[in-house]
Amino acid sequence: MLLKNSEGDSSVTPLPPAECKYLVWTSYNGLGNHILTLASAFLYSLLTGRVMLVDRGKDLTALFCEPFPDATWLVPTNFPVDFQVFESKNNQSYGNMLRYGKISIASSGVVTGPPLPFIYVHMTYRYDNNDKRFFCEPDQEFLVRMPWMVLKADNYFVPALFLNRMFEPELSRLFPDKETVFHHMSRYLFHPSDTVWGMITRYYQSYLSMGREKLGIQIRIFNKDESPLDLVADQAINCTLREGLLPPVALDRPIVSANLNNTKVVLIASLHSQFSDRIRNMYWEHPNKGGAVVSVHQPSHEEWQQTGSENHDLKAWAEIYLLSFADVLVTSTGSTFGYIAQGLAGIRPWILVRPYGGKMPEPACMRETSMDPCFHSPPWYDCKSCKSFSDPGKEISYVTHCRDVPDGIKLV
Ligand code: GDP
Repeated sequence: MLLKNSEGDSSVTPLPPAECKYLVWTSYNGLGNHILTLASAFLYSLLTGRVMLVDRGKDLTALFCEPFPDATWLVPTNFPVDFQVFESKNNQSYGNMLRYGKISIASSGVVTGPPLPFIYVHMTYRYDNNDKRFFCEPDQEFLVRMPWMVLKADNYFVPALFLNRMFEPELSRLFPDKETVFHHMSRYLFHPSDTVWGMITRYYQSYLSMGREKLGIQIRIFNKDESPLDLVADQAINCTLREGLLPPVALDRPIVSANLNNTKVVLIASLHSQFSDRIRNMYWEHPNKGGAVVSVHQPSHEEWQQTGSENHDLKAWAEIYLLSFADVLVTSTGSTFGYIAQGLAGIRPWILVRPYGGKMPEPACMRETSMDPCFHSPPWYDCKSCKSFSDPGKEISYVTHCRDVPDGIKLV
């Protein structure tokens, strides 16, 4: 492991022997990825008897309260590890140690290697079959002996833990209702800091509390050429009207008496302002058929992702939490931001199907099969034959492929 000496230089030095075993989580990608991987790492630590420590990154302490009273899960500020070195080429990653024969798999399937003070587990979406061996039973029997483990991931890998026969019995005892795994963990672990809680409560009291019904719409655009903003605005309108989530407008009538007992609040979260403008204007320019009072709100439009900028991340976290107060959610295909909102809310959202080639998808949206997030890049890997492919969505009844990301898997 690379440790910093007192001058701040890095040198290769083993960590001191540990009585406890530790897992150190390190951050990667956006806030949604952070929250999903923190939850996954926490559950994995519970299953394997590790103390979990958290690399505070740029602004984690500004976003969250500590989950455990009178204790911290943050690594000390003088923790002697340079987290920059953890990436796919790191030669102390489990995958690379297998690749270069420092750890080997015998024909019996048993994994052998020298005693190591430390192992790095690389699990970002570009990980390969060697890295994916992490999920196999013999590899877990080997890894459990490592006193220190550093993990970098960007995916919600809990569904794959259920496919491991060492973990499945305990997991099934902990979570008899499988689709609620992230719902429980997110509510248990992720508490907004006072700053974020202030933003949440002020916005809620000012704009959302008066709604008899609350609809949250989260729109994430990954590629503006494939998914132009105007098209996605039409798509969100098509989806919400078709599914009866918003009332149809009365194009032929200038006035419909307002029904003040039927107030619908729409909360839109997006980096772009076009979507709330379109929906707000639609209900301003025309009455709706039932006379519902529809009020449309969007807390911010940051235009581009600025992960690591504290003020930006505070808004993102506050918006995720505000979305979780909705009665009904519409989220975007493959967005971890939306997964957190649906998980905290404990509801199955409608998902906006991702448009390709600038064409309106048909249908515009579809109902998710469960509230639990999707693991986008699970191992399609057969641990016994040491080969791809084994379909991870076909092994047990409650782990199936995701509707939004068909190669991914989720708990249902
Ligand atoms: P994903 O990329 O959609 O899976 O979600 P992530 O949360 O991992 O990364 C996207 C990042 O872009 C967020 O963490 C925010 O920093 C920013 N972002 C995306 N959508 C929104 C939004 O609706 N509101 C705000 N405030 N930020 C957003």
